Amino acid sequence: MDEVFLTLNAGSSSIKFSVFLNQEKLIEKIQGQVENIGPTARLIYKHIGEEKNIIEIGAANHKTALQEIFSRGISSLGGDNITGIGHRIAHGGIDFTKPVKLSKPIIEKLRLLESLAPLHQPHNLKGIEAAQEAFPDAFQIGCFDTAFHRNHDWVNDTFALPRRFYEKGIRRYGFHGLSYDFITSELAKTEPALAKSRVIIAHLGNGASMCGVKEGRSIASTMGFSPLDGLPMGTRCGQLDPGVLLYLMENENMMASEISDLLYKKSGLLGLSGMTNDMRALTSTDKPEAKQALSYYATRTRREIGAMAALLQGVDGLIFCGGIGENSAPMRKMIVNGLEFLGLELDETANLKNNREIGKGKTRILAIKTDEERIIARALREFYSPNS
Ligand code: AMP
Repeated sequence: MDEVFLTLNAGSSSIKFSVFLNQEKLIEKIQGQVENIGPTARLIYKHIGEEKNIIEIGAANHKTALQEIFSRGISSLGGDNITGIGHRIAHGGIDFTKPVKLSKPIIEKLRLLESLAPLHQPHNLKGIEAAQEAFPDAFQIGCFDTAFHRNHDWVNDTFALPRRFYEKGIRRYGFHGLSYDFITSELAKTEPALAKSRVIIAHLGNGASMCGVKEGRSIASTMGFSPLDGLPMGTRCGQLDPGVLLYLMENENMMASEISDLLYKKSGLLGLSGMTNDMRALTSTDKPEAKQALSYYATRTRREIGAMAALLQGVDGLIFCGGIGENSAPMRKMIVNGLEFLGLELDETANLKNNREIGKGKTRILAIKTDEERIIARALREFYSPNS
């Protein structure tokens, strides 16, 4: 019988899942998610190559959402067949530099990291608990979004704070590592010359970051200690003068929880536009606030491309991925506009068609669909059949 792998990515308001069969190759069979966890939750899933199913489930919390995934989303496989479950985990701290088998002591260590990613880690761990309860015999592993960045040189790993804070773990961890891992593995397969050179990968989704990669290795990330830093995002602020935080505390009497809510959920494209964080909606309206929000997004992203190019001492390729990077031709155009000095020039027709190759300058520009779930499934396969 085939081994069946389930990947779970439990976020604050959604749980994404995929099912793979571990055959000669990894074959993806089902993809889906529960979104809007709460009273209006919906289970959306499809068997690959078939129509989507959408079911209103009104799941109240993560546990019931997972139960719906197990009982309906993947029921056609028969729950008993799930042999391995891989969890996406936001934070691996200093110690977790590769996927790990999830045992009780490991989970306790991961719990200690909750304060480092308060809006992600607790949900990731809830997903693990529910999956262990539902599939006590399945082999379960954790894959970390920070792991891809753990070999940064010290200068790109530290803040200019007294050294004791670095020793305590206040470092630039970087995130979106599973996505960067997938993109670099795609480049190694399909673009070997580019894979051995200097590339900037821009993961632009609701969360957004950029990674400088030299010869397949991450040298720097725009995200830092938390998934708030760097590029502006759907609802997160990106880079912010820490003086603003002091001001909000001292003059606006804001508590940490209120500031957290402001920076994670009410800022970025949503805060700047006052309308929405949906890139499709923002690029199809003429409202001046939307235009300003887009301009800020593009300008900060372009600025970080320049910074990454400086760290890499040049750039041979720019790769876009994530919901915006893969699909938003207007935003890609705004970002690349003015970067001809780095050899970055868009082929307008290819860009509009959402082609894979969208550049026409000296420096390659590609849009590649990322697949974090496949990276988790590959890690499970490594545990099962390390030499395959
Ligand atoms: P993600 O978090 O990777 O799912 O990305 C979510 C973001 O991608 C949202 O801002 C969406 O508006 C944007 N997005 C998704 N599909 C498209 C599309 N076809 N065109 C433009 N933006 C898109």
